[in-house]
Amino acid sequence: MKTCLITGITGQDGAYLAQLLLGKGYRVVGLLRRSASSDIVGERMRWLGILDDVELMDGNLIDISSIIRVIQQAKPDEVYNLAAQSFVAASWNQPLLTGEVTGMGAVNLLEAVRITGLTARVYQASSSEMFGLIQQPVQNEKTPFYPRSPYAAAKLYAHWMTVNYRESFGMHASSGILFNHESPLRGIEFVTRKVTDGVARIKLGLAKELPLGNLEAKRDWGHARDYVRAMWLMLQQEKPDDYVVATGRTTSIREFCRIAFAYVGLNYEDHVVTKQQFLRPAEVDVLHGDAAKARTVLGWQPETSLEEMIAEMVEADLARHRAKMGR
Ligand code: NDP
Ligand code: GDP
Repeated sequence: MKTCLITGITGQDGAYLAQLLLGKGYRVVGLLRRSASSDIVGERMRWLGILDDVELMDGNLIDISSIIRVIQQAKPDEVYNLAAQSFVAASWNQPLLTGEVTGMGAVNLLEAVRITGLTARVYQASSSEMFGLIQQPVQNEKTPFYPRSPYAAAKLYAHWMTVNYRESFGMHASSGILFNHESPLRGIEFVTRKVTDGVARIKLGLAKELPLGNLEAKRDWGHARDYVRAMWLMLQQEKPDDYVVATGRTTSIREFCRIAFAYVGLNYEDHVVTKQQFLRPAEVDVLHGDAAKARTVLGWQPETSLEEMIAEMVEADLARHRAKMGR
């Protein structure tokens, strides 16, 4: 039986990846950072019905001693580094913490694997945000990077360190440059989930307005369930490498709103208001990925359309609010 270690297991991708790997017969160990609200930690895995099937070990990405201890105890064959301060907007308010966790944290993990001498394969969660001020209309593995936030700069450091550990020490370390991916388990602060939650509240009469920022930005949105499959596939290859994972379709926030509100028979223009407070110091105007390499080498392709994903997210948010209302 193979063992995997997932950092960030309590997050969106961690939950879906744990589900995927449990289904493949892995022993799944997750790094859990201590929280005063331990009753709600693990909510996403509970939602997927897998919380009792994973082993959680105490640690924090910025404390290398804890990472070494967890690796020594778990002896993973595969390590997936998904932990991060992952919210771009927060990275301007907490740039140093973001650098420590999202950037240096990844190096702590690479070092911990190196120090313990394990031959574990490593996956690093890189991001399309690294393309930032895009240098090519459609981005692939060869497109130059231009990070536009403390988050993106931290991810770029982690990305290059992953490449360096692969080239310097022969580590089987791969970096997945994943474009935005969403699901009913997406953090509520991200625009897609904020919209589907807003749609549900408005439909149920719990709210009238949905305040948003820049509606003209465009993202290449896929489903997290599809994207964690690509992570696993990368670590099954003989050779480590970097891969862009994207759908190849880019859509504006405005269009996302239109589809989500229309799904419940509403017109987004009657409810969406723009608020200054949700604008960012620097914007990534458009991201549009080319995942040809992942398709050819990994045999990966997305299985969920944007419309299907939005429907799934709105339904889940409607169900959550109905449950809270006792309906
Ligand atoms: P989430 O924000 O949902 O999850 C982040 C995870 O990191 C949580 O489990 C969180 O734990 C954990 N974490 C944060 N700080 C620490 C720390 N100091 N030590 C240990 N764990 C920590 O992110 P996603 O699941 O959406 O994304 C997974 C990864 O992929 C992230 O690295 C993200 O930056 C990257 N990524 C995501 C994309 C997306 O569209 N979703 C696109 C490209 C890259 P806790 O529950 O305790 O807060
Ligand atoms: P990101 O691509 O990782 O920053 O993912 P987000 O979901 O946080 O943001 C995607 C895009 O939506 C960015 O261009 C934001 O500026 C834009 N956006 C517009 N309104 C909002 C909002 O209210 N919240 C968030 N999070 N993003 C918004």
